[in-house]
Amino acid sequence: MRRAGRWSRSDVSPDTTNSPQQPNARVAIYPGSFDLLTNGHVDLINRCRRLYDRLIVAVGVNPAKTPFFSLEERIDILREVTAGMGNVEIVRLDGLTVHFAAQNDAMVIIRGLRAMSDFEFELQLALANLKLNRNIETLFMAADPKTIYLSSSMLRDIWRHGGEVSVFCPPAVVRALLKKTKPNPGEARSESQRPL
Ligand code: ADP
Repeated sequence: MRRAGRWSRSDVSPDTTNSPQQPNARVAIYPGSFDLLTNGHVDLINRCRRLYDRLIVAVGVNPAKTPFFSLEERIDILREVTAGMGNVEIVRLDGLTVHFAAQNDAMVIIRGLRAMSDFEFELQLALANLKLNRNIETLFMAADPKTIYLSSSMLRDIWRHGGEVSVFCPPAVVRALLKKTKPNPGEARSESQRPL
């Protein structure tokens, strides 16, 4: 499943419950891998940035997986896509999200919920993060029905099989894909091993 070995799996560290930090309710962190960035991610960014003075999109490293795009490439793509969004910053996320949030004076971690299949892991992660730092809340945002079915792994599969991805992601992603690799329908194998 897409959950295995993700950046957030390592969220274990000493209990910092009741930390004296006073984070700012107007700053939110949206962490993720964004590999590939989909229209679902962009929808979430757009909706969140209306709610907060500052939205920090934190791009994580997944130590368990070889990423399709490098961290730097993912950051560049996100910066291009959010260039006109004044209150959105794109940064690299190392370590624990709650530590990052505290360092950046943020009170809120935003996560997207697409389906029940997201829920169990997200709840576990949110509760662990709350235990680590009582001052930082995880807020879940319901995915838009127009993009609820989108996932990065599905887009990678479509691309590898030579399918049209431009309807699912921003043009910057398509440009980066074309620059990096050419789809090879004959040789490509689905990550999920299921037909699309
Ligand atoms: P992660 O490895 O942290 O799950 P992703 O890049 O897959 O990183 O997702 C980052 C966040 O965006 C997660 O909270 C995920 O639930 C949310 N998300 C992913 N796809 C969508 C979508 N289509 N609509 C809304 N939220 C989404």
